[in-house]
Amino acid sequence: MGWIKETLSKVRKGKKVDHSLWVKCPGCNEIVYKREVEKNLKVCPKCNYHFRIGARERIDMLIDSGTFVEFDAELSPLDPLKFKDTEKYKDRIVKAQKKTGMKDAVVCGEGKINGIDIELSVFEFGFLGGSMGSVVGEKITRAAERSVEKGLPLVIVSCSGGARMQESILSLMQMAKTCAALTRVSEAKVPFISILSDPTTGGVSASFALLGDVIMAEPGALIGFAGPRVIEQTIGQKLPEGFQRAEYLLEHGFVDMIVERRNLKNRLYQILSLFGG
Ligand SMILES: [Zn+2]
Repeated sequence: MGWIKETLSKVRKGKKVDHSLWVKCPGCNEIVYKREVEKNLKVCPKCNYHFRIGARERIDMLIDSGTFVEFDAELSPLDPLKFKDTEKYKDRIVKAQKKTGMKDAVVCGEGKINGIDIELSVFEFGFLGGSMGSVVGEKITRAAERSVEKGLPLVIVSCSGGARMQESILSLMQMAKTCAALTRVSEAKVPFISILSDPTTGGVSASFALLGDVIMAEPGALIGFAGPRVIEQTIGQKLPEGFQRAEYLLEHGFVDMIVERRNLKNRLYQILSLFGG
C-alpha cells in the first residue's frame, strides 16, 4: 500500500499526481490501481473484468518461457486497391506498425505449454483492430499447414473486429482460405483449439474462430458477427440481455467453456493432454 502514502503525500504537497497510474474498470466502474491490474494478468481484482491484452503479453502468459519461436514475422501488408477513406490505407499500416512494432495483426509461431509443443497464433487488437487482411489470412493458413506437417496441435487466440475493410474482397477471401486450411488440419486429425477473447467478431468469428474442436472463451468476451445495433435494426426486435457475450454463447452451445485468464494455460494443457499431448 506504499502507493497510497506516496500519492497522498504528493496531493498534500500540491504536486501533480500521475493519473496514468489508474484505470477506470469498465466492468465495475471503480478506479483501480494499474499496477494491481497488471499483476493480476490484466484482470480487475474487484469484479474479474478481463481487460484486453496484447499479443506478446498473451504469448508470455501461455507459453513456457524461452520456448517461443516466431514464424513469418516479416510478412507485411500491401495496398493492392490503393484504398483511401478518411486516411490512406498505406498510412494506416505505417502508423499501426510503428505503434505495435509488428508488421501485421497476428503473431504466429511455435512454443511449449507445460512441455507440450503447439503451433500458436495470437491476434493483436492494437493493429487496426486485429483485422484480418491478406497477410493475417496467409499467416493463419501457414500456421495450419505447419500443424499438419509437424502433427502439432493448433491454438489460435482471436481478438479481432473481423475482416479488414481496406482490403475489401481480398480480406473476405481469407475467410474461405483459412477454413480450407483448417479442413486439412481436421482431416489430419490434428486438434485445433480456438480461444475467443474480447472481441471476436465479423469475418474472424464467421470463419476459423468458431471452427475449433474445442472453443474456449474468456469471461465477458464479445463474440458475434454484426454488432447488436445493426441486428436490431434489421430484425426490428430488441435483443435479449447479454446477447453476444461469452456466457450467453456458452448457454446456447456456441462455446464449449469459459476459462478465466489465470486458468487458461493449465486448462489448455489439460485438454492438449487429453488429445494425447
Ligand atoms: Zn472491475
